[in-house]
Amino acid sequence: MSQICLVTGASRGIGNAIAIELATKGYTVIGTGTSIASAEKVTNDLRTAGAEGRGAVLDVNDPEQVESVIKDITDEFGPISVLVNNAGVTEDNLLMRMKPSQWQRTLNTNLASVFSLTKLCLKGMTRARYGRIINLSSVVGATGNAGQTNYAASKAGLIGFTKSLALEIASRGITVNAVAPGFIDTDMTSALGEDQRTKLLGAIPLARLGRADDISKAVAFLVSDDASYITGQVLHVNGGMHMSS
Ligand code: NAP
Repeated sequence: MSQICLVTGASRGIGNAIAIELATKGYTVIGTGTSIASAEKVTNDLRTAGAEGRGAVLDVNDPEQVESVIKDITDEFGPISVLVNNAGVTEDNLLMRMKPSQWQRTLNTNLASVFSLTKLCLKGMTRARYGRIINLSSVVGATGNAGQTNYAASKAGLIGFTKSLALEIASRGITVNAVAPGFIDTDMTSALGEDQRTKLLGAIPLARLGRADDISKAVAFLVSDDASYITGQVLHVNGGMHMSS
């Protein structure tokens, strides 16, 4: 029987590439979007890839929905053994101008939601004495970025969460890792102006923006048996723009 994976924010960009990558590797993937239309898109994308699984509607900020989505998946497919916490948003502003709502929405979506999603999935993983949890952090969680105090704080928070949880549950056969993308060509970065893009390219040693599949391949590796001795790590995938120690 194939393993069951939950990928949040799978309707577009990096999450979509992760869902398709894992599905084509034989996992059963449930990928979420925030609307019926985006959940249907995931179902269609999985079908087109000839893969097992489906889309599901999920706003990660709605704890009741989180609980019911996880229950529905478990009832229909069995316990979740791979969780990819990918859903994320940016609401950039200089701190001096940032509204409390911009701070709160970003921290809630990118960081606070990971608490209940992970906790609920851990029950089945602990029982199975097996699990893989991957959290999507960001290069700016390590380096900081002017205009992104909220986003960088959420992504740095995920790194602390990843390392702490890895220590707590290693003895249960569950690994917890983070992938920290650099600048990847998705809707999230499409708002960059031509000037910003040119400047950014100058700061990336490999001289190109990343592609969503640069990230999905790294996630698939950390999920695979080949990575069974890797836990509590942050895998930076950024074209060389930040070389962590
Ligand atoms: P994206 O293209 O903007 O897609 C975001 C995804 O998250 C969509 O599927 C969206 O669903 C979903 N989402 C948004 N708000 C949500 C909520 N409240 N509840 C559940 N799902 C929600 O983003 P991306 O560029 O692929 O980024 C994916 C992850 O990688 C994020 O965590 C991001 O912070 C991280 N990352 C991205 C980059 C980059 O350069 N792109 C760099 C570093 C880290 P809908 O389609 O329904 O709106």
